[in-house]
Amino acid sequence: MQPFFDLLFGFVTFIRNFLFLSSIFVPSQPFFFYLKMNITIDPHSGFCFGVVYAIEIAERELKLEKPLYCLGDIVHNNMEVNRLRDEGLIIIEHKDLKNLKDSKVLIRAHGEPPETYQIAVKNNLHLIDASCPIVLKLQNDIQYGFHEMKKKNGQIVIFGKEGHAEVNGLKGQTHDTAIVITHLTEIEKIDFFRPIRLYSQTTMSIEEFLTIVELLKERLNQVNPTGVSDFEWDDSICRQVSNRSGLLQEFSAKYQVIIFVSGEKSSNGMFLYQVCKNVNPKTFLVSTREEIRCEWFSEVNEVGVCGATSTPMWLMQEVAQEIRKFSN
Ligand code: SF4
Repeated sequence: MQPFFDLLFGFVTFIRNFLFLSSIFVPSQPFFFYLKMNITIDPHSGFCFGVVYAIEIAERELKLEKPLYCLGDIVHNNMEVNRLRDEGLIIIEHKDLKNLKDSKVLIRAHGEPPETYQIAVKNNLHLIDASCPIVLKLQNDIQYGFHEMKKKNGQIVIFGKEGHAEVNGLKGQTHDTAIVITHLTEIEKIDFFRPIRLYSQTTMSIEEFLTIVELLKERLNQVNPTGVSDFEWDDSICRQVSNRSGLLQEFSAKYQVIIFVSGEKSSNGMFLYQVCKNVNPKTFLVSTREEIRCEWFSEVNEVGVCGATSTPMWLMQEVAQEIRKFSN
């Protein structure tokens, strides 16, 4: 019997030692090696002046009187929206506006179509208009273009995202008759035998806009090779966004890893993230500090943090603080 117990004891000891050693040499987590990191926040990132203006107005009004309603998210960044909600801002949708009476309503930087102002008069709403001045100018230009086109049986074309708040405001200047194109393939919606006025949502890519202009010229030459076509375009893209792409390209090239902070609803955020990713494939998109992944910083010592025109500086600082936890 003794040899059997010796054998059993030996087997149990072997299994116990094996399990112990494997827990040391085969860790369940992959091993990351952290260096001392320099973390730089891009000084050109953060709110554009249109968003700063809208938020300043909201904060000022909230100090004076509550409740203050805001038609749609004041900025495409949930973290900033939640901060202002905590201060008393109430976000409502367009369908709610019809039932709201005798209240104060903030119009955000994207602007609104004329219908919103008509509802406000009818419902005795006090509008606090924080539309960005650049968007207001574009609305006026489109309204003028629309009246001009009406006389000539022409068309207003907007390069932008169908359903985007700014585009809704722009379309509203044309009684919703403007043709919206987001992709090159959609130029087929245009009638090339009628006059055309082309505008752009303020946050679109200049390169794509110019490609569309060239494409339209080509098509017009095809349908009317001998005549002069009535086609004008207005590069209405906001330089607060387009100038950032060049600055972000330079910034992204300087660091091993780029953390781009933006809400996913932000149109310019997704565009600028792609700008960084094209220059530096190690660019990661986060909307909060909780989304930071430790594996991005293994053996990295230069990290850049940047963001969209709708990203608050305090959020980029929070993200940088989180990354510091992986610095040796
Ligand atoms: S991106 Fe330009 S147009 Fe849009 S809100 Fe900012 S400043 Fe105004």
